[in-house]
Amino acid sequence: MQVLVYGAGQLARMMYLAGAPLGTEVWAVDVANETVVHPVSKVISDRTLAQAIDTADVLTVEFEHVPEHLLAEADKTGKLYPSMEAILVGADRVKEKNLLTSLNIPNCPYKVVTDLNELDDCVAELGESLIIKASRDGYDGYGQWRMKSATELDSLKQALANLDLNTVPLVVEQCLEFDRELSIIGARNQDGQTVIYPLAQNRHHEGQLHVSIAPAPRMSDALQAQADKIFETLANGLQYTGVLAVELFQVGNELLVNEIAPRVHNSGHWTLHGADTDQFDNHLRAILGLALGSTRPLGVSAMVNIIGCSSFSRDLLSLPGCHMHWYGKSVREKRKMGHINVLAESTLALGSTLEKLSQFLPLEHFPVLLSEAEDI
Ligand code: ATP
Ligand code: MG
Repeated sequence: MQVLVYGAGQLARMMYLAGAPLGTEVWAVDVANETVVHPVSKVISDRTLAQAIDTADVLTVEFEHVPEHLLAEADKTGKLYPSMEAILVGADRVKEKNLLTSLNIPNCPYKVVTDLNELDDCVAELGESLIIKASRDGYDGYGQWRMKSATELDSLKQALANLDLNTVPLVVEQCLEFDRELSIIGARNQDGQTVIYPLAQNRHHEGQLHVSIAPAPRMSDALQAQADKIFETLANGLQYTGVLAVELFQVGNELLVNEIAPRVHNSGHWTLHGADTDQFDNHLRAILGLALGSTRPLGVSAMVNIIGCSSFSRDLLSLPGCHMHWYGKSVREKRKMGHINVLAESTLALGSTLEKLSQFLPLEHFPVLLSEAEDI
């Protein structure tokens, strides 16, 4: 079987690595120049995109911001999973909010803004503490502006003055005082069967994910059931095929959806060592029509993103249950270079290994690791 992935980053690379044991060949599309590349070596194939589409059994995406003309071309073949509609929901915050509203799924109070003067109404309706998000092309906190007090309105309007809000409206959200961030990830196949991983707890810093812990500590069955229901409602509502990730805010005992990612997700990398079947394996199984695999956790896991650095001692591999995974990229500030997975038998053991791990890593690049370790 052959799978063609739109996007040639680390997620396509990890799909390739999961595909080999399944006897599946995975190729990637560099969407910037529409070439077909090997997902690991990045060597350009001599096949054209049209030829690769033709030979692939299924087409899929590693990110939602694939240019729409490419998605439309992929969709026409009838081999694209998840569907173009589902991918576009993840790519456009206005579509995403409309879907959440239509399915009655709790999410953050918001307003769609197409004229900067409407920001005054936002303050009146949502309060002074706001997060302003471009409705398209944002990731890792890019395309976002924060406001703490109405005194910042004028300077904010100036900063946003060059945006074309008729083409790309803003979604203005109330800045929530959440207890923590979580994500729910699962897979749905074409027959509508689903498997769902335990909730992961996600710690962000400056808009970027730094550490995930799964199963999330201090969990109740009721919270997991709430998350499962959100996943099922979205996956069934979209007639979804593949792995779907949903980012959540926990406020008291309630879960609110932050955003939907129609793909494998950074907060699911812990499954590579910490679950019976990892998310990449399950994504390929779902889109290829194979039986879905068990999502049973093998212990308690942490996933630590390596962001913007690569120079630290590899002796950390001597820690029990510790695994490193590099994406083969050159270092750039704020760039996700790889991740470290730690699998432990208990929460206590995980906390202790993470504390030791933090001693191997430069604090400026891993600013929240120690506090996560201590909080477990
Ligand atoms: P991603 O890389 O996950 O796609 P993103 O840039 O698309 O990120 P969001 O997930 O919307 O953007 O926001 C990034 C982070 O900013 C969130 O994980 C959360 O920490 C914070 N954040 C976003 N929206 C809100 C909100 N309404 N209230 C409080 N914090 C928020
Ligand atoms: Mg996000």
